[in-house]
Amino acid sequence: MGSIEQFPKQFLSQVNSDCSNVYGSEFAARQRPIQKLPDREMPRNVAYQLIKDDLVLDGQPMLNLASFVTTYMEDEALKLLAESSNKNIIDHEEYPKSVEIETRCLNILSDLFHSPVSNDIPTAIGTSCIGSSEAIMLAVLAMKKRWQDNRKAEGKDSSSPNIIMSSGVQVCWEKAARYFDIEEKLVPCSETRYVIDPIQAVDLVDENTIGICAILGTTYTGQYEDVKAINDLLVFKGLDTPIHVDAASGGFVAPFIKPNLEWDFQLSNVVSINVSGHKYGLVYPGIGWALWRSPSYLPKDLIFNINYLGADQLNFSLNFSKPASHIIAQYYQLIRLGRSGYTSIMQNLTSTADYLSCQLREMGFILMSDSNGAGLPVVAFRLGPTQNAFFDEWALARKLREKGWIVPAYTMAADCQTMGMMRVVVRTDFSMARCESLVRDVQAALGALAQIELLNIQRYHA
Ligand SMILES: *Cc1c(COP(=O)(O)O)cnc(C)c1O
Repeated sequence: MGSIEQFPKQFLSQVNSDCSNVYGSEFAARQRPIQKLPDREMPRNVAYQLIKDDLVLDGQPMLNLASFVTTYMEDEALKLLAESSNKNIIDHEEYPKSVEIETRCLNILSDLFHSPVSNDIPTAIGTSCIGSSEAIMLAVLAMKKRWQDNRKAEGKDSSSPNIIMSSGVQVCWEKAARYFDIEEKLVPCSETRYVIDPIQAVDLVDENTIGICAILGTTYTGQYEDVKAINDLLVFKGLDTPIHVDAASGGFVAPFIKPNLEWDFQLSNVVSINVSGHKYGLVYPGIGWALWRSPSYLPKDLIFNINYLGADQLNFSLNFSKPASHIIAQYYQLIRLGRSGYTSIMQNLTSTADYLSCQLREMGFILMSDSNGAGLPVVAFRLGPTQNAFFDEWALARKLREKGWIVPAYTMAADCQTMGMMRVVVRTDFSMARCESLVRDVQAALGALAQIELLNIQRYHA
């Protein structure tokens, strides 16, 4: 392939210059600008079509069963998203209604997560974020600062904070610990337990512990960690160690599927919670939420008062500007669906996940996730001994990819890294019909891989 300069000039001079015909234009005949800002402009229809054509080579979001992130929204929500994406939510003075809508979302979430109430008013406060990762960074900072303030007030050393968490945490926890100089005290997973062991976790608490992270729906298997057991053990031992619940996915599932599960502000030591609006909150990326039990858990010097945008406003975030659009789309989902809407969607997802689990178990896979709504609608599995497979999970993932499915193979958390596994995240648009197609394609892929194996064996013996 020659460069643009080497492109035969005689052809370039012949191409259509009015550009109503995209593929007859000189732009379609050239390579895309990839290194330098082009000297000349191009017509909007051409730019649109060329970029759209590039993006065709991305995977199909709907077939990406690896991701927790929302891939379907109703047209009305999309309209609101588009209509409000030119509003910068940081401009409180200019967009007071958007800010009010953010507060409404936070009020609804505080109520959903059983905020304590004082004089009929929920005490919880919070903020929108770009996702759970930002929310977790903020929560970790708040725990660290509060611990340091308490230590300093007691005249004690505050130079070596630590945080307790499962080795199965999402990567943003390791990031938070490293960015903010906090020692990670990891509770190992085992070959048979993929969630935190509450006893081991509480045993690790010392005077330098800023908090314990408990995950409501781990990224590996979708299982809920036992927040109540951790809380009860702390209370039993008379410890006031804070618990942060990473409810990135579970925060929008458990309240509807397991309303009696105690994991949120109902538990006395739970000081903060994060949830991703763009996972089971059913909004496109990126939106997340951070909530604190009451203002006393959010040290004052982390909150900045910005007054140069026209009015005094409080801000606790890592970034400054961001669109109001996702907050508005979140509010749309909350009022459009209500409790009954979220419940019916989460119930459907749970039964689809249960169905898929049954089918995979029948094919001989070992299931690593919970069913019946005991965890997220996530199906985690690995090859089982009865399958007598000489191929691994990665080979199966590649085979499924041929049909367009993105089902990742990966290794279990740090302590069980020899264990290969696969995971299907059941999202809103993964209907029963699509699930049936996947089941058939998994069966076919297993058959095809076994066939290749057989041929290899025959060839070896020939
Ligand atoms: C997805 C996820 C995160 C990170 O959340 P983002 O919203 O993608 O930033 C953190 N923790 C858990 C348990 C997750 O599933």
